[in-house]
Amino acid sequence: MTTMNRRDALRAAGLMGLGAVAGCTLPVTADNRSKTIFAVPQATIPIVGSDEVFPVRRIYCIGRNYAAHAREMGSDPNREPPFFFQKPSDAVQFVTPGQTADHPYPPLTKNYHYEIELVAALNKGGRNIPIGEALNHVYGYAIGLDMTRRDLQRAMGDQKKPWEIGKSFDRSAPIGPIHPVAKVGHFTQGGIWLKVNGETKQSADLKMMIWSVAEQIAKLSEAFELMPGDIIYSGTPENVGPVVRGDLMEGHIDGLPNLSVRVV
Ligand code: MN
Repeated sequence: MTTMNRRDALRAAGLMGLGAVAGCTLPVTADNRSKTIFAVPQATIPIVGSDEVFPVRRIYCIGRNYAAHAREMGSDPNREPPFFFQKPSDAVQFVTPGQTADHPYPPLTKNYHYEIELVAALNKGGRNIPIGEALNHVYGYAIGLDMTRRDLQRAMGDQKKPWEIGKSFDRSAPIGPIHPVAKVGHFTQGGIWLKVNGETKQSADLKMMIWSVAEQIAKLSEAFELMPGDIIYSGTPENVGPVVRGDLMEGHIDGLPNLSVRVV
């Protein structure tokens, strides 16, 4: 599986029957049962310039990956190794470039935060991937928001409980289309910013990441076997903050079309 190419990944996703067809066939199990009792949709992200879509297997996110953001979250950027969390794959909310997507204000929170991030999409997997080979696993890049119920995240952290309710909820991962590396190259520097209602809130450069995308892939692959379809939210710069219903968020990364999302 570690050398699975993109076509194989797409075929595998199809074979796993995660599309709209009910009763589709799964790999045969020990007792020969192979039909699902209902269909579960496969989360996908459109690919720029292609009729094909990118099937999302897992969403990994790195925490506190810009020094100034690490400081604002109360940690020391010089000492901490990278850490990761996940969102469910169906948390993706695709946002079409040139359009504004309505994004529902989620339940339970009174402090709902934006985090603008570069997202790397993998079409190759592996374990213990060397840093020097890591970028060969990246199919493309997108701009995304790691939306966060900050009050719930903090409350759970204070109680030394899992963050999940603060990070891993429905539609917590708005994302633009994937731009293949073959067309846009790799993103190691360039402006990244987020405006709310036209006012700049976050503004930094991708080169300020503490751990590069290549280093993130290498580190992640020590903890998990990465697979085609995994996407990695690469962390947000400083000056995260709240939005309320009616707010318009516009995100930007140099070289990608802007992401426009209205909280409703
Ligand atoms: Mn984040």
